[in-house]
Amino acid sequence: MNTTTATLPDSASHTYEQVATASNEVAGLLAKRLKTETQGEVLFSTADRGRYATDASIYQVIPLGVFVPKHAEEVATAMAICRDLKVPIVPRGGGTSQCGQTTGVGLVIDHSKHVRNILNLDLQAGTVEVQPGMVLDSLNASLKKHGVWFPVDVSTGAQATLGGMAGNNSCGSRSIAYGNMVHNVLGAKAWLSNGELLDFSQFENSNGREKQIGLFVKQLAVHHQAELQTNWPKVLRRVAGYNLDIFDNQNERPYSPDGKVNLSHLLVGSEGTLAMTQSLTLKLSELPTAKVLGVVNFNSFHKAMDSAQHIVKLGSGSLTAVELVDRTMIDLSLKIPAFAPTIRTAIIGEPEAILLVEFAGTDKEKLKRELKQLVALMGDMGLPNSVVEMVDDAPQKNLWEVRKAGLNIMMSLKGDGKPVSFIEDCAVPLEHLAEYTDALTQVFQKHGTKGTWYAHASVGTLHVRPILDMRRDGPLKMRAIAEEASALVRKFKGAYSGEHGDGLCRGEWIEWQFGPALQQAFAQIKQHLDPLNLLSPNRMVNPPKMDDTSLMRFGNNYKIIPIQTALDWSAWNVHNDAATEQTTLPGTGQDPAQGLAKAVEMCNNNGTCRKFDAGTMCPSFRVTRDEVHATRGRANTLRLALSGQLQGGLESPEVKEAMDLCVGCKGCKRDCPTGVDMARMKIEVQHHYNEKHGLQLKDKLISNLPRYAHIASQWPGLMNLRNQSPLLAKLAESLTGLSAERSWPEWKKDHFFNGPRVGVSAEEVLKASKPVVLFVDTFNGYFESENAWAAHDVLFAAGYQVHIASRTKQDTPGQHLCCGRTYLASGQVNKAKEHAQTLLEALLPFAQKGIAIVGLEPSCLLTLRDESLVMGLGEMAETVAAHAVLFEEFLEAENKVGKLDALKVKLTPAQKPILVHGHCHQKAFGLMPSVTQVIQLIPQAKVDLIESSCCGMAGSFGYEASHLEVSKQMAEANLLPSIRNNEDACVVADGTSCRHQIVDGTKRDAIHVALLLAQHLIK
Ligand SMILES: Cc1cc2nc3c(=O)[nH]c(=O)nc-3n(C[C@H](O)[C@H](O)[C@H](O)COP(=O)(O)OP(=O)(O)OC[C@H]3O[C@@H](n4cnc5c(N)ncnc54)[C@H](O)[C@@H]3O)c2cc1C
Ligand code: SF4
Ligand code: SF4
Repeated sequence: MNTTTATLPDSASHTYEQVATASNEVAGLLAKRLKTETQGEVLFSTADRGRYATDASIYQVIPLGVFVPKHAEEVATAMAICRDLKVPIVPRGGGTSQCGQTTGVGLVIDHSKHVRNILNLDLQAGTVEVQPGMVLDSLNASLKKHGVWFPVDVSTGAQATLGGMAGNNSCGSRSIAYGNMVHNVLGAKAWLSNGELLDFSQFENSNGREKQIGLFVKQLAVHHQAELQTNWPKVLRRVAGYNLDIFDNQNERPYSPDGKVNLSHLLVGSEGTLAMTQSLTLKLSELPTAKVLGVVNFNSFHKAMDSAQHIVKLGSGSLTAVELVDRTMIDLSLKIPAFAPTIRTAIIGEPEAILLVEFAGTDKEKLKRELKQLVALMGDMGLPNSVVEMVDDAPQKNLWEVRKAGLNIMMSLKGDGKPVSFIEDCAVPLEHLAEYTDALTQVFQKHGTKGTWYAHASVGTLHVRPILDMRRDGPLKMRAIAEEASALVRKFKGAYSGEHGDGLCRGEWIEWQFGPALQQAFAQIKQHLDPLNLLSPNRMVNPPKMDDTSLMRFGNNYKIIPIQTALDWSAWNVHNDAATEQTTLPGTGQDPAQGLAKAVEMCNNNGTCRKFDAGTMCPSFRVTRDEVHATRGRANTLRLALSGQLQGGLESPEVKEAMDLCVGCKGCKRDCPTGVDMARMKIEVQHHYNEKHGLQLKDKLISNLPRYAHIASQWPGLMNLRNQSPLLAKLAESLTGLSAERSWPEWKKDHFFNGPRVGVSAEEVLKASKPVVLFVDTFNGYFESENAWAAHDVLFAAGYQVHIASRTKQDTPGQHLCCGRTYLASGQVNKAKEHAQTLLEALLPFAQKGIAIVGLEPSCLLTLRDESLVMGLGEMAETVAAHAVLFEEFLEAENKVGKLDALKVKLTPAQKPILVHGHCHQKAFGLMPSVTQVIQLIPQAKVDLIESSCCGMAGSFGYEASHLEVSKQMAEANLLPSIRNNEDACVVADGTSCRHQIVDGTKRDAIHVALLLAQHLIK
């Protein structure tokens, strides 16, 4: 064996260059063979390739194509085809890597959609074998009932795949207790690029090709023993390069507890460059049944850093995490409604930093004693009364969610300067942590920027991202800061890449870290396992420069095409100051797309929209598991379109396809950590599409409903015929595209708007002592009038003088008011604006008097607090928005100030358990607690909230034949089974379309909360 040469064969390196120029002929052949030889998805369109050209890094490299295998074996087939055609392969899981690991020319193979099963669970042995596309949290969800878990708890656990985690040698918050990925993998079956399927496990039991590989690496390790001893960082968190030290362990913690060599550890951290994982065998740990958390408040960041080395000595084995949250992060969290209440539970005064110190085990009492030791330690260190003790599970869980969202919280900064990941996971020994962070902070200052610190203080890996503008001087500054940071890492004998891997960003630093001899050894390992240089070439070996702008998402040629937007996006159109994080005034950011492009660019590809566990985002991805149907896929498509990388721009069929299954639920508005509001973007995009292609009949029919409702309701027999005749329903489907399977809302001759007048006049309410204005929307007014009457009755019973809002302008048909929602749903911004204007003019006098404007339909009322503010309706919109509340919000607020006593005594006890489904827009505005609290006004009410995403009906979405199946699948994900499983419950749903979906899917009626309360009024 020659252990001194490290060059790759010429033919192999040429392959990379050749494919990089994307020969159409090769692409065509590749796509054709994949289509004929597999059942997987073959995605070669410009938009698909663009969507897979990025991950959570700053890079963008357009691949030749994308393959989504249906079965694991198809990965081998695809590899064989690539081998024949000399096309490089880029393995991919969730695509959440931060260093560009999953960006590359060639064929991207996405394992996350289908190749994601548990293959073998052996509880006796404490092991599980999984396919690489399985997501960590879904594995842990299925293990929970057995009292075990896979403990490498990365922050991206809800979307990161185990194949990707192994690829990156990922590390969780609790690595001090459980180690990194490499410490928890017991075996890997993987294909070499020549097609051989090998079983990488214990070296001493191996034979054949596996043994040969082991011997080859062993000889390299022996040959380079001196460099291994001197150049290899001796910290837990070193993930750079290949794990040559499996034969001469340099890690703080042995890779295997028994010290035996496991060949699978060679693949861990190899970032898909050595072999393609078919399955992984993982070591399971006992799930801690008890946890306590001490939140230590520090008045200086330096003190927090300095304390970590002492805190880690506590707990005699039960200390599982010491995590940092700094002042900037605390401030940012306080500004996010979803996080503010939680972070307030953890802070005492205004700390400069907090450390989250967790002890876990099986005996809560013992852990409580350990928590007291922490309190005592801090007292000894001059910080008495600095620890918030959290013993109960719920507050701990909430705080961990905030910490896990740390990076994303930081990324919510608007403007072109963004926190950039390139030195964010350097690991230094704990005794140098304070000195290291001080010195690096000075480096940032020198370069006119700042960084926010957070993460794993227990293992010396502090995350920090300086704010850089990658379109301007960012790449230059990145290089300069990287040079100075690396000098510090060397001074403190740390690891430059301590968590997030090498990829494009740190490939060039591998030689810097380990020296030329070890780099040479890595090249030999690559050559030995992948002589064809087929697997992610030019990454760990022969990597490009980190600041090669031709590989960046916002590279030299990135330019936004000027467009005139229909909605106001100026809030995003700002510049920011890297040092102060202050942003300029709205509209000053020089975005040729008037802020829309900058709003779209807020997506940093972190992949949170691929999660399944909680929240609403993103229902269409949850059903399809397609990248194109995730918020990220949509944001990337829009970015490509707005920057001229997609022919046809916003009006292109590719953009239409990406938007098609977006239900406009606003889940992303709340759940996306950087606030990508795709529902609003969809309105803007549809507006542009309509301008070019015109409106479809179904859009006209639905959007104009508020205009013709007063006429249609006069002919209910005729209008409802379609629901009674399957033939007519079929005919209507072929004409309108609205599914024959769905019933349409029933028209009624007698409805709220032509029924007996209720409530007081405008003049009376303006003078009333307990005034309230009720805005009755088209749907509740015409189709479910009982809700409008119920709302009136409940408010009246509570002693309010209720005025029913009505038109002040009589120049258009119909007397009722409309928010314009139906027009917005199909992108008709101008028409929506007309309606909203009339509504606002009618409501303004009451809002100006401070009178609450109460609405029933979440999507209608909340339009006043959302889209109305960006349609150019000026101050009037702001004033009304400030007073527009949902029925339940109003009652909850009034109850808090003791104004509902009159109502409470009139409510009779609940007879049934109550099950609540939240409308997506209620959830997006964080209003579900109001619903449950208002229901609890009813004596003996037992309320359960269904943990569901969108119901799938989403306005007219679920009525459309082309969406029928997806709509049903969304409902079946959780909502409908929960209702079926609670036969006795009374179901409450405030959304008209949600109620419709529920009755269609379960034959059970759901009712508005106003009706529920009214039904419980003493008759
Ligand atoms: C907000 C945020 C927070 C993060 N927090 C953490 C954290 O706490 N800890 C941490 O360690 N990392 C963290 N990361 C980085 C990243 O999420 C993790 O590395 C994660 O494990 C990657 O999983 P993935 O499925 O997205 O992998 P991908 O990014 O898709 O792939 C990762 C690597 O694995 C390779 N790969 C994928 N599948 C295979 C296969 N079948 N065979 C061979 N190679 C394969 C890929 O080629 C790539 O090199 C964070 C990232 C973000 C954006
Ligand atoms: S849309 Fe939001 S959640 Fe999804 S990847 Fe982009 S930033 Fe992350
Ligand atoms: S609005 Fe809803 S469906 Fe559309 S991208 Fe956001 S979360 Fe997904």
